[in-house]
Amino acid sequence: MATYQEFIAQNEERDGVRFTWNVWPSTRLEATRLVVPLGCQFTPLKERYDLPPLNYDPVLCTNKTCRSVLNPFCAVDYRAKTWTCNFCLQRNNFPPQYAGITEQLQPAELSPQYTTIEYTLTRTPAQPAVFLFVVDTCMDEDDMTALKESLQMALSLLPTDALVGLITFGRMVHIHELNCEGMTRSYVFRGTKDYTAKQVQDMLGLMKQQGNQRPLPGNPNMPPQQQPQNFFSKFIQPLSACDMSLTDLLGELQRDPWPVLQGKRALRSTGAALSIAAGLLETLYPNTGARVMVFIAGPCTQGPGIIIDEEFKHTIRSHHDIEKDNAKYMKKAIKFYEALSNRSAVNGHVIDLYSSALDQTGLHEMKYCSNYTGGHMVMGDSFNTSLFKQTFQKVFAKDNKNEYRMSFGATIEVKTSRELKVCGSIGSCVSLAQRASNVSETELGMGGTNAWKICGIYPNSTLSMFFEVLNQQQGSAQAQPGGQRGYVQFITQYQHLSGFKKIRVTTVARNLIDAATNMPTIAASFDQECASVAMARIAVYRSDTEEGSDVLRWLDKMLIRLCQKFAIYDKDNPASFQLTDTFTLYPQFMYHLRRSQFLQVFNNSPDETAFYRHYLLVEDLTQCLVMIQPILYAYSFGGPPEPVLLDSSSILPDRILLMDTFYHILIYHGETIAQWIKAGYQELPEYENFKQLLQAPVGDATEILQNRFPMPRYIVTEAGGSQARFLLYKVNPSQTHTNYGWGQAVGAPILTDDVNLQTFMEHLKKLAVSTTT
Ligand SMILES: [Zn+2]
Repeated sequence: MATYQEFIAQNEERDGVRFTWNVWPSTRLEATRLVVPLGCQFTPLKERYDLPPLNYDPVLCTNKTCRSVLNPFCAVDYRAKTWTCNFCLQRNNFPPQYAGITEQLQPAELSPQYTTIEYTLTRTPAQPAVFLFVVDTCMDEDDMTALKESLQMALSLLPTDALVGLITFGRMVHIHELNCEGMTRSYVFRGTKDYTAKQVQDMLGLMKQQGNQRPLPGNPNMPPQQQPQNFFSKFIQPLSACDMSLTDLLGELQRDPWPVLQGKRALRSTGAALSIAAGLLETLYPNTGARVMVFIAGPCTQGPGIIIDEEFKHTIRSHHDIEKDNAKYMKKAIKFYEALSNRSAVNGHVIDLYSSALDQTGLHEMKYCSNYTGGHMVMGDSFNTSLFKQTFQKVFAKDNKNEYRMSFGATIEVKTSRELKVCGSIGSCVSLAQRASNVSETELGMGGTNAWKICGIYPNSTLSMFFEVLNQQQGSAQAQPGGQRGYVQFITQYQHLSGFKKIRVTTVARNLIDAATNMPTIAASFDQECASVAMARIAVYRSDTEEGSDVLRWLDKMLIRLCQKFAIYDKDNPASFQLTDTFTLYPQFMYHLRRSQFLQVFNNSPDETAFYRHYLLVEDLTQCLVMIQPILYAYSFGGPPEPVLLDSSSILPDRILLMDTFYHILIYHGETIAQWIKAGYQELPEYENFKQLLQAPVGDATEILQNRFPMPRYIVTEAGGSQARFLLYKVNPSQTHTNYGWGQAVGAPILTDDVNLQTFMEHLKKLAVSTTT
């Protein structure tokens, strides 16, 4: 039998699913005693190039309260042409077109290798997506020029049938007409007012579109030249029709003409602009894939969504201000942007935030725009940097099959067999409030539903989902030889950028066993990496509404309880404490999570915290692990590059280190290496090998920089360098000034107050084995 490690890897590869526990207890009580909740990390659109193209609709169970999709776990009677649903046990007839199936001639969706499969619905007409640029014009000339170039480049990267629009804002908000040749016209709105969708509609003279009345501009059954032009509003036009005029319009964009007085901030109407953008799309393109791309160079300083007023002497809130309840505009602003995000999410519209400024711009208040809609959040110092330019270009990236990686309007519905209920989900999504019979009363994350919406979805988008086990009745109809199995089916419907609607179906099964007699089997099925990410996401989710210290205390309590339950030890004897293989790394992940920027916020600004947390809620499991516990590689003359412990003892004078924190890529030259560089050895032909050693981490760093979204900050530093703090904050301070003897050759001393991993583990052992804890 394959090991659990192999089992976990195969399942992740095939289905994009990893569970915290891979064998499930058969009673509710035993499930709650596992401490780490039963749940999974699910990547709905994980890249799969081997899926067969199915251009037909999935076959559904006819039980009206079930509607699960035919899958490889269904029992099939080939003679009677019937199948039994593995979720509700209903017997269903195959539709007439399946009359020819036999055991040898199966449709792909019944093949055991296709527990994940995708259907393309070709009968619904394709719909082009809408891209609405919302551009701040309060920025300096260099930034403006760079941003204009990036926007013009974006036009060349969009699909040719895309619909586009432009809104600019400073003190006023301008909606630009795109249909007038040779002259630019725009409608002007005051930036101090919060316009409702109805007001926007009336002021622009728009007709409200009803879902079924809306003309379908991309209807493949109608040649483009025959499509009446008046379909489109003058504010949203097909790119093919306005490419030239929009390129010119962008080229002519001017900075906001209103003078900015000494000691004041520019008057910036971000909130009003976003509200107008949402109203425009809500009126013209409800329930259509649309992307509002917002570019901001500073905080909103007037009107709805104000972050800080125009007086420079009033500084923008810090974590300390928030803690002391000394952030004048914050709560109101959060309420405004959260409501706006919900409105957009309901309509299937994505909001991306591209923030480029040296100071904060209000991502902390605006974060729901990205978090609820599956939008991007990009944070940089200036639009005139390669970090912004390359990151922005990647938004339009394509995959190996030359198809866009971005998709729109996904809904994810979860079916469960009767042993399970759904508790909730944590990720870049909103609840669809679908109260089905498999929805648990116990909520974890966004609960009270078995379906969620992700307006902007990508191959790496990952949700955490949590489940509850129900008590099994004796002699249950599902008792099978070889034990009971529980099933979960994820049905993901989305709009591909090609315009077609697709349905991805993933069905997974795990064994249920009696925990009272089989605890070692359940313990052996623990996926500590998945559990670490699940706990990190729960901690960050709780941090939104709870005090930081309460979240840390909860995390500690859970870790101690997990160790009490699964470690091997004699009571009150810490020396006897031992963890089995599947748990050994878990305390270390928790140690690094406790120290991470996700939970220790005071070294960062609230905007940075919002940015860091956003990607923990979005990325796949592997990337989330890197965020929790960064990866460190060492390069030396001693051998090939190797991963080393994230520990101060890994910092050696004759080593180069490469650290990947997901957000930063850092190259660190040890003391001796730095001296050799200063002496110029790399220039001398006889030290060619030193030159190569210096090059190796740069090559590896470049590869990471090219492949990651958003592009990480790239830092090159050396022993004693000011930027070395990024490395020193992250490593476990196994040698500190208190226990570091001068003259010792290994490792670098670290100035820190917090405990090191060794001390942390000693405390953990003591508490876990104590009879009084
Ligand atoms: Zn069914």
